[in-house]
Amino acid sequence: MIGAQRATRRNDLPPPASRRSPDTAATVLRAVLDHGPIARSSIARATRLSAATVTGVATSLLHRGLVREAPEAVGPPGIGRPHVPLDVESDAVGVIGVHIAVPRLTVALLDLRGRVIAQRQYPHGRRDPDSVLTALATAIAAVRREHGRRRRILGLGLATGGWVDAAKGTVVEHPVLGWRDVRAGAALAGATGLPVWVDSNSRALLRAEQLLGRVSGRARQSAVQLFAGNVVDVAFATGGVVHQGPRSAAGAVAHLPVEGCAEPCSCGRVGCLQAAVGERALVRRAYAAGLIHQPDIHTLVDAAAAGGAAALGMLRERARLVGRAAALLLDLFDPEVLVVAEAGANRLPECLEALRTEAADASSCGANMVTTVYASSFPDNVLAVAGGAVALDQVYTSPLI
Ligand SMILES: [Zn+2]
Repeated sequence: MIGAQRATRRNDLPPPASRRSPDTAATVLRAVLDHGPIARSSIARATRLSAATVTGVATSLLHRGLVREAPEAVGPPGIGRPHVPLDVESDAVGVIGVHIAVPRLTVALLDLRGRVIAQRQYPHGRRDPDSVLTALATAIAAVRREHGRRRRILGLGLATGGWVDAAKGTVVEHPVLGWRDVRAGAALAGATGLPVWVDSNSRALLRAEQLLGRVSGRARQSAVQLFAGNVVDVAFATGGVVHQGPRSAAGAVAHLPVEGCAEPCSCGRVGCLQAAVGERALVRRAYAAGLIHQPDIHTLVDAAAAGGAAALGMLRERARLVGRAAALLLDLFDPEVLVVAEAGANRLPECLEALRTEAADASSCGANMVTTVYASSFPDNVLAVAGGAVALDQVYTSPLI
């Protein structure tokens, strides 16, 4: 028999993580991001926190260098003046955003508003993990040396495709690159001396949409992010929380069957979504047809944007297939918004239209789903923002840690 339970005493409880709840600091910092420049008194109204709490948290955020008093209000020095507007510190701090794609690396420096200050891309030499992570460390050092000297770097975010375990900082499996159980987070932390966070393409981009996107208010309610590059993956969030799953495996839609697709997939089957809409097969076909002079997705999008009817036709067809997958996700999750990061829809209105129409037609919810589907808010820097958002999400979730 188990003995009678005694009441929990104060000393039995674990100590609080910090003197002030990080949630309160996160709430205030998010309000400054959303509305800044904004006075402390207005933050208190917007967040329903007490004026004293906002003043205290603002002081901590000022000391941490994450916010500043807006330049137009600079007057006599002092902290705690309730009507002096605060804004996000955009010059003195930043994060490094890194993305590992199938053909190349992207390394970027972003400010706290998610603006890309500098960005460089490097085609892979060899694709084995050691070679890629070594090249990445060199590239990060170069970007910091050239663009980051005047900024305090708060951390590094890495986004990549496939199955990523964010808690462990590992790439569990990236079938297209042939990686398994790569401890990318630890390797980059060792090489750079920075705090490093790792996540999948889609989860990273979903956080970016919630934090910085065009429809961030709606995306914080519930959202699905569909990423279609060489790798295809999905993330979803409810109540502002991006779902990871106990194995960090949520969102693996690469091998969803697609009707009428004969393209062989890396998994050995035929007709998987990733094989049907993956950039490599599309670009290979366009190159073989003489539509582009180099096998690169951006060259194909450029050709379509310049009036190439055949190039546009191929991209529109791809967008339609992505729209078919989007319809399934709309039916599964019924999200407030579904955001698609896909090269054609990101830049060409005709492709976005084809994607939205197919999604609405194939969804059982019908035509009203058109207003649920959006292209990425970051069409020009989607990979840099994905990496950066992994780090920015940490800064905005726990700003004082
Ligand atoms: Zn497959």
